[in-house]
Amino acid sequence: MNLESEFAIQNSDIYKCPWCATAIQSSSEPFCSCLASERTLVCRDCDRCFCEAPAGWRKAFFRSSAAQAFRARNKSAQQATTRDLTVTPDSVQRPVILVVDDDRTVHLVAGRVLAEYPGTVLHAEDGERAFELAMEYQPDLVITDALLPKLDGRELAIRLKQTPETSDCKVAVITALYKGSRYRIEAINTFQVDDYIEKPVTPARLRQIVSEQLGLESAA
Ligand SMILES: [Zn+2]
Ligand SMILES: [Zn+2]
Repeated sequence: MNLESEFAIQNSDIYKCPWCATAIQSSSEPFCSCLASERTLVCRDCDRCFCEAPAGWRKAFFRSSAAQAFRARNKSAQQATTRDLTVTPDSVQRPVILVVDDDRTVHLVAGRVLAEYPGTVLHAEDGERAFELAMEYQPDLVITDALLPKLDGRELAIRLKQTPETSDCKVAVITALYKGSRYRIEAINTFQVDDYIEKPVTPARLRQIVSEQLGLESAA
């Protein structure tokens, strides 16, 4: 099967949903809110996004004009919120959630979802900076990507757990790469992570992490 011809039915503006085969028009469908820089459309018929669609389907989609327009809009939104990525120690409120990712878009999407909860959200773009912030603020929950510059997410988890000042904080590691039960068991046993989540992470999955780790329900 040629995925690209399956994908583009007409003028690359009308696509076939990979799950329910409904024809959808890119300009009228909303984008998903998964924690990823490359997000996809949500099918109105089956309510699923295409982040888990076959690689060929996504590749063709990311080249489309709809994806390019979304990327451009997203870029200006990121620039507008960059200054909100820091908070001073005296303005911090509990619970503190620290989001660690080297992708600005992930911070933007996670920040929107986490704004439904009381408390403060901190952002770090690499593992070393995350550890510094954790020492300073003692976050209640750290949500980190596995693959990070300097110190990776799993190493960050074990370092936090083995440091008295931060050993109580819950750590959820999100991964696109180390999938499967072998890596999950290793993450929990060797790196002492509290939750190990495979990408894509939807807003619903993010709320589930907060609920399970902090016992908090969304106010939204
Ligand atoms: Zn998605
Ligand atoms: Zn569908």
